[in-house]
Amino acid sequence: MLNAVLSVAELTGQQATHVSSHPQFAPALRLRAPVWSAFIAMQTAARADAVELALASAFRDFDRQLAIWNRKYYGHAPLYDEHGQLLLTEQLSSAERVAAIMTWSALPGASRHHWGTDCDVYDPRWFSKHQQPLQLVAAEYQSGGPCYDAALWLQQHAGDFGFHFPYAHYQGGVAAEPWHLSFTKLAEPCAAQLTTELLEQLITASELAAKDYVLAQLTELKQRYIDSACAPGDAGEVV
Ligand SMILES: [Zn+2]
Repeated sequence: MLNAVLSVAELTGQQATHVSSHPQFAPALRLRAPVWSAFIAMQTAARADAVELALASAFRDFDRQLAIWNRKYYGHAPLYDEHGQLLLTEQLSSAERVAAIMTWSALPGASRHHWGTDCDVYDPRWFSKHQQPLQLVAAEYQSGGPCYDAALWLQQHAGDFGFHFPYAHYQGGVAAEPWHLSFTKLAEPCAAQLTTELLEQLITASELAAKDYVLAQLTELKQRYIDSACAPGDAGEVV
């Protein structure tokens, strides 16, 4: 159902009953049914304008987000500042590590990718031709980058298909992500449903690295990294 409210387990990525894969896409990619329809309509329109759109990432569950978080916190995966500059994890305090993680990766339970409404979009042609992996970095979406045309097209047209850019600009929280699209009509109720209390319960019961720090700072972290998403209609600018 289009506007059905998600269960808490679905909202926080602990259950995947709200998402499904699509026969035209890799089975690992899962979204909610109306989001699939909107994405495919957008992909068809882009193709008519000689722009190819593909999904790099769609639904992601809690355990996957937790693994990303813990790997980054313990230095098993790199940390970057808001400009994409590599940081030296072992020189950072707990608070600094959490800030660096949350600049690029969501708190488990609070990822928009849990909702089945959000996806990371790219133009696959250059990457398949050169057999290079997509890195999801700003340079790929800027002038001269392989996803530049797609970024320009999406800024102009994504809104027509019901999508917006929650990370259009860096505002002191999450870094700018020109690849991240959110299906507005279904995502907005999820954002409203995600309360601090709900996250507190979830994190308390989890194996999250820096759990005590995150719980103590949860109100501030939620304001800075979760509630600060850019509003629909703000597409940012491609440079
Ligand atoms: Zn994303």
